[in-house]
Amino acid sequence: MPLSDNVSLINTLDDLTYIRRRRVIQISAATGIGLLTSLFVARGFAFNIFLIGFISLAVSGSLAYRNHVTASSYVLLGSMSLMLFALAATGAGVFDIAMLGYPGVIIFAALLGGVMLFSGVLSLVVVQCIALTWLIMHDVISPNTPFLSWSHLVFIIVIFSVTGFSVYILVYDIRRLMNSLQRENEKVEQNRLQIQHLAHHDPLTNLPNRLLGERLFVKKLKESQEKKLQLALLFIDLDNFKPVNDALGHAAGDRFLQKISQTISGNLSDKESLIRFGGDEFIILASDVENRQQIDQLCKSIIEWCSSEFEILQTNIVVSGSIGIALAPSDGTQFKQLCRKADIAMYEAKHNGRNRFEYYDPKLDKDSDEKFKLIQKLRPAVLNEALSVHYQPLVDLSTGNICSVEALVRWPQCDGTMIMPDKFIPLAERSGLIVPLGQWVLEQACLFAARQYKKGNSSLTVAVNLSFAQFKDGTLPQIVKHALGKAQLPPKKLELELTESILADSAGNIEAQLKEIKGLGVQFAIDDFGTGYSNLNYLRTFEASKLKIDRNFITTLGSNKDEETLVSAIINMADSLGMTTVAEGIENEATLVKLVEMGCDIGQGYYWSKPLPEDKIELLLQENLNGI
Ligand code: C2E
Ligand code: MG
Ligand code: MG
Repeated sequence: MPLSDNVSLINTLDDLTYIRRRRVIQISAATGIGLLTSLFVARGFAFNIFLIGFISLAVSGSLAYRNHVTASSYVLLGSMSLMLFALAATGAGVFDIAMLGYPGVIIFAALLGGVMLFSGVLSLVVVQCIALTWLIMHDVISPNTPFLSWSHLVFIIVIFSVTGFSVYILVYDIRRLMNSLQRENEKVEQNRLQIQHLAHHDPLTNLPNRLLGERLFVKKLKESQEKKLQLALLFIDLDNFKPVNDALGHAAGDRFLQKISQTISGNLSDKESLIRFGGDEFIILASDVENRQQIDQLCKSIIEWCSSEFEILQTNIVVSGSIGIALAPSDGTQFKQLCRKADIAMYEAKHNGRNRFEYYDPKLDKDSDEKFKLIQKLRPAVLNEALSVHYQPLVDLSTGNICSVEALVRWPQCDGTMIMPDKFIPLAERSGLIVPLGQWVLEQACLFAARQYKKGNSSLTVAVNLSFAQFKDGTLPQIVKHALGKAQLPPKKLELELTESILADSAGNIEAQLKEIKGLGVQFAIDDFGTGYSNLNYLRTFEASKLKIDRNFITTLGSNKDEETLVSAIINMADSLGMTTVAEGIENEATLVKLVEMGCDIGQGYYWSKPLPEDKIELLLQENLNGI
């Protein structure tokens, strides 16, 4: 059946019930009109039958009007078939023209009601036909074949019109229903396609996601292998994306990711596909790779695209990208395996200074294996407090007295060796262990300083290093308060060493936390100054009272004139900001003399002492106190 577009749709079950009710009323009305017409031409008994039929139809119509659709259908069809039976019984029996009405009644029953109504009406009609035949054959009634008159023609036309009209409107409903079904089907198909798209694409950038990425990988690897060429999987991680999110908000961060992904994908050739792996991580699958130069060139271009300037919320943003590369089939043929290897290589690129690319090397896997094992060992060591805190003195260069000690953590091993913090602090930061570890060091340092304070070393302060990861959950002010309270140490005897990267990398409310800690009376020092951003704005935000010049500038001081100028400039700048300068890594007298000449206030280094365990530093402090 052709579906016409101008047929309105049936959308809900309520629509269907309403339509059925309307149709029963309409068929009752049409039959009623037919009967009225017949009343004008009917005589005698037929007139009475039409009259009774007309009244039954009025009852059926009013039932439908009151929403009793099933009851009204029974009344309508029951009265119609009885009327036809009466007409046939008083007329020519089974040859009477009233028989023409039966097919209409059966069709209405099929279309208006359920199986019950249909089988009921069909049975009634069959029974009536059998009854008519039996009554005539047993001479109970005698058929009365009338002479053809115009009134018969009127009856026939009325029967055809009522049946035709009713069938027409019911079939019209079926067409509407089919149209609705077709639209519904189209919607379902559209939804299916949309769900499929969502399942395979990242909603923010509309790039293929990991799932589709894996399929593309399988397809591209097959094509490359057929040509005996390599497939490169490039794992890209944006450097310094977090500060963008933190400073400008997540909406701006999202917009930035959209723009950067558009820039990269817009520049790629059809042999390369960009995939969003998650967060600020992307993957590029580059097929048909003939040599490494080809990949080197692609990586250089990607780094260039990543470092372009993007304008978001009237702010110009520049980030960079670190890329790790794994090749298929030489590094493996499984998507997940290559992602892991490229990820390891990407970390190596970050470790080597960011904004660069590195190829996967099995040696890196070994390193990461070792790191994993070390983290597994570190966890119980931290929980069982199996670490040790050493203290290195800081010397006031104007008096030569120890004014402070820096707490530096070590990890003693069973064989008597020590694992140094440079090796395990980054792992603790990555695994979250830095939070309990940092808290433990802080508590130990406060207890140590409190003991010294009670022994009369009232001018001594203790410095503790902090990591960015300790700011993450916002509980640092409580941890500091607790450590000071537990040791009963005056807050001004505690100094916290922060690196500039803390402000650049850390999420959340770092400034508020710093303010709260500052409010307690605790001092801040900027550690390793010169290696990070060397941003004067950060110095203001930290409200630090000390600036520790990084060891790398101090150890080469005698041999490098440029460095001398730089250190001198840092000391002058800190001085003008009212900050005390500390030189880390003084190993000899010549360096010390130079720094004193430059106006440096405090020194720290092997020249005086290496970091010492508690009993040894106590002796040193005692000698210092006694003026030895
Ligand atoms: P840092 O805070 O800059 O500590 C100074 C580092 O320089 C110490 O290394 C110290 O032993 C070393 N040093 C001091 N004077 C000299 C010198 O004259 N010559 C040489 N070659 N080195 C000198 P260490 O103890 O290995 O600590 C390394 C870094 O580990 C620290 O650098 C600090 O960033 C981190 N760290 C240590 N303990 C902790 C801790 O409890 N928590 C956190 N978050 N980091 C810590
Ligand atoms: Mg330090
Ligand atoms: Mg330092």
